[in-house]
Amino acid sequence: MQFADAVRKVEAVLTAHGYASACARILAENCLTAQRDGSISHGVFRLKDYLSTIESGYVNGDPTPRVADVAPGFVRVDADNGFAQVALARARPLLIEKAAENGIAIVAIRNSHHLGALYLDAEGFADEGFLALAVVNSDAFVAPPGATRAVYGTNPLAFAAPRSSGPPLVFDQASATVAHGDLQVAARQGRRLPSGTGIDAQGRPTGDPGAILDGGALSTFGGHKGASVALMVEIMCAGLVGADFSFDVPHGRPAGAGTARTGETVVVIDPGAGAEALPELPGRVDVLAAALADAGQLRIPGERRARARNESGARIRMDEQQWADIERLHAAALRASQALDPHTHKELGPA
Ligand code: NDP
Repeated sequence: MQFADAVRKVEAVLTAHGYASACARILAENCLTAQRDGSISHGVFRLKDYLSTIESGYVNGDPTPRVADVAPGFVRVDADNGFAQVALARARPLLIEKAAENGIAIVAIRNSHHLGALYLDAEGFADEGFLALAVVNSDAFVAPPGATRAVYGTNPLAFAAPRSSGPPLVFDQASATVAHGDLQVAARQGRRLPSGTGIDAQGRPTGDPGAILDGGALSTFGGHKGASVALMVEIMCAGLVGADFSFDVPHGRPAGAGTARTGETVVVIDPGAGAEALPELPGRVDVLAAALADAGQLRIPGERRARARNESGARIRMDEQQWADIERLHAAALRASQALDPHTHKELGPA
């Protein structure tokens, strides 16, 4: 199916469930771009969560993010309890202006939700020649080594750097052994993961997705090293932005609320600032990537995703059931909109 067609339909579904159209468009593009890029743990699979979280009343589907210019290189945004991507889109022009002017700028977003693949919040800056680093915290679901309960979120970190030979070099990784979305996919498929992927409710190492989901926790990748990355993400997101730490995020949310109200931070650097006499960064990134390939690294991070995007072109792949679900939800959205008076947007009474 065509990517643009899928975006249009998902946008209509999100709008019918209560998202304002500008917000629905950003979320639809976000989740379908992840799907198209083969990042399926944050693709169409998440649509049900976008719908249930707005239906629960926990998220603001029509937010007005408040952007504050707090210092020459510092922007703060209150996302108004909406999605962080909507707040980032609002802050983006000021962030870019500041990064170009000062050589570096940071945006700290609070009172926000995030259900997406984080590289999508970073790669656009690298497309424009900047370096970008994005971090987001989430619900506590990750235990550091030795702990018997979760303290951290899955806390991803995404990094994007411009290259001269093609699309930016991007990596995007959770601080956990696997993303929560991938854990859910594995549980649904009845697939066991390597032992030590997480702990069960008694704190014992396990690779059983069901046991991890049922009162257990994921482990950090690389033991204490991943735990320190998760720690940094908590400080950069919750600490710096004034949001809840992952372990503080309230559990008593309305039924269906599938998102956590946390924070996101994005740092944007202009690699050309004061570097007139130095070799240009995009070429240097290419040199490094070539050296890695030459040394035998089989896969440069981001290449799988870029290949998937290239191969899909204007089309998008998803399994038949997922497409059928979108068609069904879209048909229901159309029926609902036809039942509304086009002028007042109130339900039409019987003829
Ligand atoms: P992966 O472990 O699948 O991949 C992490 C990174 O490593 C990617 O950049 C990937 O590149 C690269 N990579 C994977 N395998 C190799 C390899 N063999 N050699 C070299 N590079 C490799 O991702 P995670 O499971 O850690 O995270 C999945 C997604 O979940 C991310 O997009 C993340 O943002 C998202 N997430 C979102 C959260 C939220 O709150 N919104 C919370 C946690 C995670 P490539 O992209 O090319 O495969």
